[in-house]
Amino acid sequence: MSALHKAKFIDPHTVCLSDIDGRGQRSVTTANVVIATGTHATRDKSIPFDGQRILISDDILTLEKLPRTLTVIGAGVIGLEYATIFSALGVRVTVIDKRDHLLPFLDREITDNLAYHMHQNRVTLRLGEEVCKLELMSDDKGERVKITLASGKQIVTDKALYSIGRTGATETLDLSTAGITPDERGRLKVNEFYQTSVPHIYAAGDVIGFPSLASTSMEQGRLAACHAFNEKTNSQPELFPLRHLHHSGNLDRGPQRGRADARRHSL
Ligand SMILES: Cc1cc2nc3c(=O)[nH]c(=O)nc-3n(C[C@H](O)[C@H](O)[C@H](O)COP(=O)(O)OP(=O)(O)OC[C@H]3O[C@@H](n4cnc5c(N)ncnc54)[C@H](O)[C@@H]3O)c2cc1C
Repeated sequence: MSALHKAKFIDPHTVCLSDIDGRGQRSVTTANVVIATGTHATRDKSIPFDGQRILISDDILTLEKLPRTLTVIGAGVIGLEYATIFSALGVRVTVIDKRDHLLPFLDREITDNLAYHMHQNRVTLRLGEEVCKLELMSDDKGERVKITLASGKQIVTDKALYSIGRTGATETLDLSTAGITPDERGRLKVNEFYQTSVPHIYAAGDVIGFPSLASTSMEQGRLAACHAFNEKTNSQPELFPLRHLHHSGNLDRGPQRGRADARRHSL
């Protein structure tokens, strides 16, 4: 079967596959289904994304020239990844987030260090600030973006990367036909065997949310398939490099406690 098909449910056991070029379609009837459609960048309808100046993380990979200034909206893992890459390349980067701290799921001493090194690389962190408007504009410096914050401040930047999170790619699957309802961010809830509310329909990977990592997504898919076919499986979650730096965020608990929590929180 060609990999280039778009799938949607016709009933709980039948999936319709449409050619990506729209030329043909056929249906497949199956005992079990694994939904592993991943996520896409969350967008806000009020923002005029143009893929050139107001970008999501897919667009930024298509830039042909480095901008002079880049403003990253959303200090999550992806936003900070690009903020640090572009600042290392000499771009003046500003990061805006409504939270007061970077990556609150990490130890504070680590995020303090990250913030220190970002400052050293001339990154401006505007934490505790909420973005209310993004506009395409032009001035004597060229085609740019104006960002208005709830505090009334305005930032003008060459490019803006909008990175406030990811939404489960479930909107075109016709899940209601299969009897499944995603949450408000398109994600699917599963049990310990990766079964959705409809037991023969499994979901794995980013579409089920945290931790949304490549390695864990693959392992979830494997466990779901093994369960569907009643195969014995041996999962070794301790091998996955997940949350090794994590604890509740309370510095007083110290590194020893952090390590214990990390073990407990592994998948
Ligand atoms: C910018 C960025 C940086 C990242 N960095 C890291 C990192 O450093 N380390 C790490 O471990 N993880 C990282 N991740 C996360 C990692 O990419 C994901 O955890 C992983 O790709 C999830 O795999 P998945 O199979 O669940 O989804 P995906 O890899 O998103 O695959 C889903 C697939 O389903 C297809 N699809 C969607 N809808 C349909 C449909 N209706 N019909 C048919 N096909 C469909 C999509 O086209 C896609 O090919 C990063 C993610 C992003 C966005």
